[in-house]
Amino acid sequence: MGKRANPMAVKAALTYEISEAAKALGKSPATIRNWIKDGLPVMASQKPCLISGAALRDFLRAKYRATKSPLAPDELYCLSCRVGRNPVGFAVEASPNTANTTRLKGECSRCGAVSTRIISNTASDTFAETFHFAKGADSDP
Ligand SMILES: [Zn+2]
Repeated sequence: MGKRANPMAVKAALTYEISEAAKALGKSPATIRNWIKDGLPVMASQKPCLISGAALRDFLRAKYRATKSPLAPDELYCLSCRVGRNPVGFAVEASPNTANTTRLKGECSRCGAVSTRIISNTASDTFAETFHFAKGADSDP
């Protein structure tokens, strides 16, 4: 495992080609491609594929955060407290993140800020036992 890339090395307002992102972050293009496989979003309408600096930052922060402080099974990561917190009422909104992952969103029970967690789709049954999933207005009870 190499040195961590600094999320601040990319500018949030810019877009990057894979080679540019690799250079800015001191990584190889293969590493950037692996990140894309791991869920780093690319701008689908563009060729060659472009990555927004903001998306890169979010991805790196989430990636390093995950290794820093693993969340308990009943926690989301609060963007304000910057630690794992229980969501209010254990209510979460689920939305597709990548083909293999789902993004959970809730409200921090401590400060009320947005809290999120990316889970593997294969684990969603386990999380459904802990959290109350909402998928928008027309979800089944
Ligand atoms: Zn909070």
